[in-house]
Amino acid sequence: MIKQILNEIYQLLFERFGPQHWWPGDTQFEIIIGAILAQNTNWTNVEKAITNLKAADCLNPEKLYHLDISRLAELIRPAGYFNIKAKRLKSFLNWLFENYDGKLSNLESLDTIRLRDELLAIKGVGRETADSILLYAFNRPIFVVDAYTARVAVRHGLIEPGADYEQLRELFQSNLPENVQLFNEYHALLVRVGHEFCRPKARCPGCPLEKLPHNLDAEYF
Ligand code: SF4
Repeated sequence: MIKQILNEIYQLLFERFGPQHWWPGDTQFEIIIGAILAQNTNWTNVEKAITNLKAADCLNPEKLYHLDISRLAELIRPAGYFNIKAKRLKSFLNWLFENYDGKLSNLESLDTIRLRDELLAIKGVGRETADSILLYAFNRPIFVVDAYTARVAVRHGLIEPGADYEQLRELFQSNLPENVQLFNEYHALLVRVGHEFCRPKARCPGCPLEKLPHNLDAEYF
């Protein structure tokens, strides 16, 4: 039953919105930096910060690793929380250089669980960020969840209110085929419907999932 509903949700979202082309980014490194900068802000602000890094010719591991942290904070200012995010970027880079010779290619041989554990051990890298990096930068079959995912899943009766990140991830991962492209598109589509329709105050009329049973009384957090 859950598999069927998850499949229906995907089909309806894809029919309405089409491919979302995630994650925007020219290189694997840019995707990782974008995932770290995306915490608590919108994508437009992340893009401005990335544009600044590119304009300063700093968007590669070597240059960013050696860049002064106050200069880095200045460049990523548009992404918000720039001092904290500069420290997070430096933490990631320190880990990469101290353990993997500064080369993303050296991470490819790590199995997904080990890579996930190591990313989560970096200060400031939470589950959503680590999983975004795994899925979108390393093409690993990890389902990324966020507040939008929780809201849609609870309102459509797929999971109990109050479910935590790992329970939500498990819901999707254990009921969908293990397929990187599917996970990629599905997460992006949930963000889209959450952004446009499934907001804290739901806008069900006109939503692609309107015809599926849903319950707006369910608290999702
Ligand atoms: S807005 Fe309504 S129909 Fe759309 S996903 Fe949310 S609960 Fe479902």
